[in-house]
Amino acid sequence: MAEWQGRTAASQRGYDHQWQKARAAFLALPENQFCERCKAKGILNAGHLRMDGSPQTNPKRMHLVVNHRIAHKGDKQLFWDRLNWEVACPDHHDIRIQQEESGKVRSGTDIDGRPLDPAHPWNAGSV
Ligand SMILES: [Zn+2]
Repeated sequence: MAEWQGRTAASQRGYDHQWQKARAAFLALPENQFCERCKAKGILNAGHLRMDGSPQTNPKRMHLVVNHRIAHKGDKQLFWDRLNWEVACPDHHDIRIQQEESGKVRSGTDIDGRPLDPAHPWNAGSV
């Protein structure tokens, strides 16, 4: 294992200048203007809404982020694989990260970006 994989600071996990540039370019693409998970529920969220479709009132959360569909866990290949990237609103990004970190959810999604774990709230229809 490379030394950097054990570190926790975001800038040392690969979220460095190169990532900032790649991320900005990805979010600038015409097909990446809305959160994918909100869109799957019929909500076009360009970062101005919460995941339930109500207006986002926290200015710090009015944006979109690039989420890794499969947690890269320091794997540079997964990290930089654009097929593994999806556009997410902060709400969906946080939920994803929390679930993965709590270890309750099988990581990974199918081709539509839906979690593979049948017990995931997304699949249970409660999200
Ligand atoms: Zn969303």
